[in-house]
Amino acid sequence: MPQDIDFAYQLYYSYPHYVERKLTHRRFKNSDIVPLIEKLKERNNFAIKEAGRSANGRSISLIKYGDGDEKIFLWSQMHGDESTGTMAIFDILNFLNVNDHFNDFRRELFSKVSIYFMPMVNPDGAEIFQRRNSHQIDINRDAAALHTPEGKILNDIFNELKAGFGFNLHDQKINYSAGHTFKPATLSFLAPPEDYNYTLSASRSNAIKLIAQLYEILSSFLPGHIAKYPAEFEPRAFGDNFQKLGTSTILLESGGWENDIEKQFVRKMNFIALLASFKCIVEKSYKLQALETYDEIPFNECDLMNLIIRNVTYKRNGTDCKIDIGINRTEINFSGAKRFYFKSIIEDIGDLSIFFGYEDYNLDGMVITTGNTYPEHFYSISEIENLNFVKLYEEGYTNVVLNSNQFKEEFSRFPINIITNPDLKPEFDIKTGEIPNFLIIKEGKVRYSVINGFIVDIENLLWENKNGIIIS
Ligand SMILES: [Zn+2]
Repeated sequence: MPQDIDFAYQLYYSYPHYVERKLTHRRFKNSDIVPLIEKLKERNNFAIKEAGRSANGRSISLIKYGDGDEKIFLWSQMHGDESTGTMAIFDILNFLNVNDHFNDFRRELFSKVSIYFMPMVNPDGAEIFQRRNSHQIDINRDAAALHTPEGKILNDIFNELKAGFGFNLHDQKINYSAGHTFKPATLSFLAPPEDYNYTLSASRSNAIKLIAQLYEILSSFLPGHIAKYPAEFEPRAFGDNFQKLGTSTILLESGGWENDIEKQFVRKMNFIALLASFKCIVEKSYKLQALETYDEIPFNECDLMNLIIRNVTYKRNGTDCKIDIGINRTEINFSGAKRFYFKSIIEDIGDLSIFFGYEDYNLDGMVITTGNTYPEHFYSISEIENLNFVKLYEEGYTNVVLNSNQFKEEFSRFPINIITNPDLKPEFDIKTGEIPNFLIIKEGKVRYSVINGFIVDIENLLWENKNGIIIS
């Protein structure tokens, strides 16, 4: 175990040598990874074949490394908008492709195991950054019916390989916490059950032991940030079926990490988790793990919101009430899903003491009030760019009207919402399901504004990776 942790630290520090620099964010496409796979074909330590084609004709590849008897099979992104595992696979392929102080490890891997990678099982979903495939089927509910070409390809390769270990790579909501804590579940695991009786077969107990080993190794990097899913059998899911067929299957879900919107740190943790797994499998060190260690891993709980504002006084119909407000964000794709902006909603109002915010403000004694629309119109975006936003907040405004047919943007880059239809008179209420746009008053003066769910401190106006909305 100490040498496994030491190995993980070496990977951690050497990672910049291997990171695939062509993949820098989550919304890359099949056409971004095809040239990376083509380049691997020039190397003779990889065997590459086309495993099949997606419903829309995109290539799905199988990449083999190693000559050993024991087989390891990894597949990623069967949900098109869950790309962290795919990024990590290309980092690992780079790692396997070079000569350096890890050569002894590479030689051992190459001779003792054969590792099969199937990155981006759902390239059509990835193209528009959506979970489902082009026929709107969730591929991970198609393991029994096998109606999707992508599910069939995965199933065929699985049957051809009959691997000892399988890694099913996904992304999960960033709202998951590791237990009832404020810590995001950055990585979550599951050794999927193989039936409704939760039979503990030899292959499933090996998966449990390997997860236990990873939990101990990775807790050095992610203390309190590792969780597990409850074992609920899903007869239509691939992991559950593969487990039943004798492959020790591990579900690895990439979750949230503060200020890591593009999951680049989580990607690095995947890289370490998977290479550490290969080492544990080659050396069979996971066999020494107690099954009970798996029980110590906290469950995924959904206790996190993007922003919580606590203890503000809400005046309504002449009476006061103290409230907490919980805000969550979703990403809205545009420009062929190459780009996105955020849209927030008020998730909950009331006592939110059992929840935690990535950003969490206790504004006891302050008063919350809805924001208004500035009465005068503007006629160009540069006029808005040059506005004194703090002054507008102080006068009670969170929205401006832009009367221009030149303006074609999807969202407001500024800490103010833009109304492009001058006839609209939107009113933002403070209630669940609404877009959070309001002002927070301290001793009679505006202290914070909340624009599309992003809180702005008027004494220190920071506006990066944030956006207002367009109302048209
Ligand atoms: Zn998924």
